[in-house]
Amino acid sequence: MHRYDAGTEVLAEAVMSYSRQRMSHQDVPLDGPLSAAELHELVGQTITREGMGGEKALRLFGDVLAQSCITTDHPRYLSFIPCAPTKAATLFDLVVSASSLYAGTWMEGSGAVYAENQALAWLAGLAGLPEGAGGVFVPGGTFGNLSALVAARYQARQRRAGDQPSRWAVAGTANAHSSIVSACDVMDIDFIGVPVGEDGRLTGEALRRTLEQAGHDGVFAVVATAGTTNLGIVDDLETVGEACAELGLWFHVDGAYGLAGLAAPSVRHRFSGVERADSFVVDPHKWLFAPFDCCALVYRNPAIARAAHTQRAGYLDVVTENDEINPSDYAVGLTRRARGLPFWFSLATHGTQAYTDAVERTLTVTRYATERIRSHPLLDLLHEPELSVVCFRRRGWTPQDYRAWSERLLAEDKGFVVSTTHAGETVTRLAIVNPETGEADIDVILDSLG
Ligand SMILES: *Cc1c(COP(=O)(O)O)cnc(C)c1O
Repeated sequence: MHRYDAGTEVLAEAVMSYSRQRMSHQDVPLDGPLSAAELHELVGQTITREGMGGEKALRLFGDVLAQSCITTDHPRYLSFIPCAPTKAATLFDLVVSASSLYAGTWMEGSGAVYAENQALAWLAGLAGLPEGAGGVFVPGGTFGNLSALVAARYQARQRRAGDQPSRWAVAGTANAHSSIVSACDVMDIDFIGVPVGEDGRLTGEALRRTLEQAGHDGVFAVVATAGTTNLGIVDDLETVGEACAELGLWFHVDGAYGLAGLAAPSVRHRFSGVERADSFVVDPHKWLFAPFDCCALVYRNPAIARAAHTQRAGYLDVVTENDEINPSDYAVGLTRRARGLPFWFSLATHGTQAYTDAVERTLTVTRYATERIRSHPLLDLLHEPELSVVCFRRRGWTPQDYRAWSERLLAEDKGFVVSTTHAGETVTRLAIVNPETGEADIDVILDSLG
């Protein structure tokens, strides 16, 4: 079963050939979900005592299972946040899998960790963090936000030894990503909601006012969002960062989607103030062309995170009791895949200018979509896009109309665009992070709105 024998050779050919074909992306439809009953009918029981053989399993995957998964890298997949990995990144994901790398410790994975850290350093540099900033690639923004807040609370606990509050708390806006409130639940701490202005942005002034009124003595961190998921709004990082510095609060910037815009000169100014962050996250699997799952978590002072997260046990002494960089020490989790390597390989292959160009391309297409929506007689633009999300209303439509339209688009293989809720109203949005999404793709979607 383990040896690379003749049977494995045949299977390797089949798997490589499948992967190459899928990656070439020629005519891969959007596909769509089947029910469990339908899948049972088509696939049945696959796990048997004797095994069905790799070729048959691969055929079932290609013919049925894969086709009941929506193609997230399709140029007209514009829901949620799509995934648009470069070919280089996807190819290297195969190499990471083939190499059984362990990237939790320097001892076992120094080469992989060295390369991952260069990719993290590029991001830290774009954000303007000082030398010495660093962190780890975690599975997603959810893990990244949680891990950063755990490090922040650790620092607060140390600082307030002997004067612990009855409850700890984090402040953020109602527009903050769902993972922030979820992190507060996991940590059993309070979340203090700060109201936003007309433009949807959190400001230092509103933060100060709310904290004063709340009178909570356990606030230790503030989460600002650099690109909200629904509208792409970037909080006022400058004044929020200033207020945090003044009040002695940890300043975390959740840029899971939006901070990729740091690479794009046309929107870089929106992130001014991010250089004050104590920590930030950005997901290369969103707008930086890496495959799932890949979030960069970066700390200004990684030593705090290390003190907060290092797991201790006799069997770990050989790796924890030295000065080496062990990625597992900077987040929740121990065993880890070298998930930053596909991103690193693509960056090393293409160079950073290609990243700038690709992000700018998606912004150009976003501006095209914005103009078309603005001049469309049946559509209302709901927010001037700051990044690459465009949210709009189809006049006269009920939630059922949006749903029927969305289902028809997918069934006709024209696009995958779902509705969202904005200010209590069902509307829709386009998230444009795939450089292969062109003006013609936007036309197909907008023309289908009647
Ligand atoms: C997507 C997103 C997250 C969560 O990231 P995952 O990778 O899905 O866990 C957090 N914050 C923002 C702003 C996001 O857009």
